[in-house]
Amino acid sequence: MIDHEHTDDIVCPYCGDAHEPDGDDYSETAYQTECSECEREFTVSCSMIYSFSTAPYGPEEKARDAEYRTRIAEMRAPALKQHAEDDAFAASFTPGMRVRVKDSHRRCAGWTGIVLNEERAPCCVRVEANGVRNSFPARHLEKL
Ligand SMILES: [Zn+2]
Repeated sequence: MIDHEHTDDIVCPYCGDAHEPDGDDYSETAYQTECSECEREFTVSCSMIYSFSTAPYGPEEKARDAEYRTRIAEMRAPALKQHAEDDAFAASFTPGMRVRVKDSHRRCAGWTGIVLNEERAPCCVRVEANGVRNSFPARHLEKL
């Protein structure tokens, strides 16, 4: 008797020759192949085995989850506030306004330019400076 059902390897049902499966063999579509040993044709099908696990979910676990959600919200709050401030500051730049790029913004530092009436990312401002159109984070700009 050849063990060829629910085996770890792909086993030829005729001669018992075993082939190690490769990535393509882990498919739900059955296919036909030829044994490299006895050269007879056979069908290969792969079955996945599912299992379920459970864990208690009572008052203790619910309290732990609630505490976790609170901690996450507390950790996110300063970043959200900063984003809101950056967005509001960026929105305060109106088209045509003259601005200067602050020292903190790398090679563009010191450039002066004009705020453009162009679509922008939430915390950024579109500026034409030195003949180049660019997006700058609002916090790197100073109103003139
Ligand atoms: Zn075979």
